Amino acid sequence: MNNKIVLISFCNPKQIGVKYLQASLEENGFEVLVIALKKYNSKKPGRLTGTELRLLEECITEFKPLFVGISVNTSFNLELVSIVAKMLDNLGITSLWGGVFPTIEPDKAFEFGAKLIIAGEGEDAIVEFAKALRSGSNISDVPNLIRKVDSKILSNPLLPLKKSVDDYGMPKPCSKNRILLDNDKIQRRDPNLDSYGYELSATRGCPFQCSYCSSVCLKRMYNDKNFVRHRSVGHLLSELSEAKRQISKLRFVHFWDEIFPDKKEWIDEFSKRYRSEIGLPFEVWGHPLRINEYTIKKLVQAGLYEITVGIQSGSERVRREVFNRFESEKQILRSSEILSSCGVPNVVYDFMLRHPFETLDDIKETYTLCMKLKPPFSLQLHGLGFLPGTDICNKAVESGIYTKEQLESLMYGTADEVYNSFWGVSSDEERDFWFNLIYLTQFPTYRNKTKIYASNPEKYKAITQRSVKKARILEKIRYYYKKSKIFFRLCTPIKE
Ligand code: SF4
Repeated sequence: MNNKIVLISFCNPKQIGVKYLQASLEENGFEVLVIALKKYNSKKPGRLTGTELRLLEECITEFKPLFVGISVNTSFNLELVSIVAKMLDNLGITSLWGGVFPTIEPDKAFEFGAKLIIAGEGEDAIVEFAKALRSGSNISDVPNLIRKVDSKILSNPLLPLKKSVDDYGMPKPCSKNRILLDNDKIQRRDPNLDSYGYELSATRGCPFQCSYCSSVCLKRMYNDKNFVRHRSVGHLLSELSEAKRQISKLRFVHFWDEIFPDKKEWIDEFSKRYRSEIGLPFEVWGHPLRINEYTIKKLVQAGLYEITVGIQSGSERVRREVFNRFESEKQILRSSEILSSCGVPNVVYDFMLRHPFETLDDIKETYTLCMKLKPPFSLQLHGLGFLPGTDICNKAVESGIYTKEQLESLMYGTADEVYNSFWGVSSDEERDFWFNLIYLTQFPTYRNKTKIYASNPEKYKAITQRSVKKARILEKIRYYYKKSKIFFRLCTPIKE
C-alpha cells in the first residue's frame, strides 16, 4: 500500500499553509516529503533551470509517491507551476493542485495544467483524497474536489470551516522530511532550520473587502459569518516554543495575518505569555481601522518591533471607489498618532501607486497624506498587481481601463511581466515626480525639503531625482541597521 505523498511549494520555503497539510496527512499515517522549490525573491521571480527540473524529477521518482500536491498560493508563479505540472504528467504521476489561485479560478488552473484541484481549506479534504486514491476507490465524492469531466467543471461541496484554527492541527516548525531545491542543488534539510526568522499566522480570514484582494473571494465562497477565526494563544505559543527549540539561529517572528487578533482577552493573554515564553521581537500587519491604543501598547510590551500598515492611497476617491477601503483620512492619521505615541520601533506604511486608476491629483494627495503621517516611518511603495478573480479586475474592464484580453495578458504574462507590473511602472514624468516626493517623505533629511520641491515641480525635478538616488543609499543603511539590531539581539521586549 503506497502511503507516500509529495507536497511542493513554489518560491515559498516558509510554507505556512503546506505545513498544515503535512501535519494533517502525517496524523493520518501518510509519509510526506515536502519540497520547497526555489527561494522567495520579492523583486525577481525564480527561474527553473534544466538542472533543477532534472533534480526535482529524480527526487520525485525516487520517492515514488501516490500523488504530488502542488501548492499554488498565487498566480505570480504560474510559469513555474505549469512546467512542473507538465513534468508530472509526462511521468504519469497524479497531481493535485490547491491554494488560493486554483480555488478562485479553477478554469484557468485547468488551462495551466491542473487535472484535479482541492478548493478552500484543504487539511481534511486532502486526507480524504489520499485515502481514496490509496484504496483505489472512486475519488469523485472527495469533498472540496474540482475536476473536469468532458470539458465540464465539476465542483464537490466544500467542507464547512472549522470554528477554531486550532482544530486544523499543529504545524511542525521544522521537519526532517522537508528539503529545498534552489541554485541547481538539493539541500536535504528543512530551510526553516537555517532561518533567522520564523513565519506563522494567528488567524484565518479578514473582515474587510478590498477590491484587489483574494481573501474577499474566499469569504464569498464560504459565505460563513465565522470566516474570521483565530488560534488560541496556547496553540500559537506551542508552535513558537517548538520553533525556538529547533531553530538555533532564530532572532525574530513574523506573523502573516490579514489582521492580527485584537480581542481584548486574547491580547491580554498573548502579551503576558509571549514575553515570558518566547521573548523574541515580532512583526505584524495592521489596518488603520483596527489600530487602537490598548492593543498596540500591549503588543509593544510583548515585543512588537515592526508593524506594516496598508494605506494604499492618500486619495479618498481611490480608497473608496477603486480599492473599496472606507477608512477616512482622519482615521488613518489617528492610527499613525497611536503607533507613534505607543513607541512601535518600526512603522511601515504600504501604498499602491502609479496604477491606471490613479490620476495626477490622486498621487499628489498621497504626498500630502504622507506629510501628515507621524514620523519616523518607512514606506513600502509598489504598484497594483491584478490578482485573478478579484473585484478590481471587473472594475478595470467596466471602466474601460483594460479590455478583458489586455487584463488577461497582464495577469497571465511571463513571470517577469507579472512581477514588473506589481512593482509599478513609470507612467509619466509628472507622476514620477510626485512618486519621488512621496518616497522622500520617509527620510528626515529630505522630508521638509520636499515642501520646497513640491512648490515648483519643473524647477526641482532634477534635484528630486538626485535626492532619491542618495536616499536609496540611506534606505539600504537603515535596512542593515535594523537587521543588525535584530541579529545582535538588541530588539528585546521593553519592560512594563
Ligand atoms: S485588509 Fe488586507 S487581507 Fe483584508 S481584504 Fe484588505 S487587503 Fe485583503
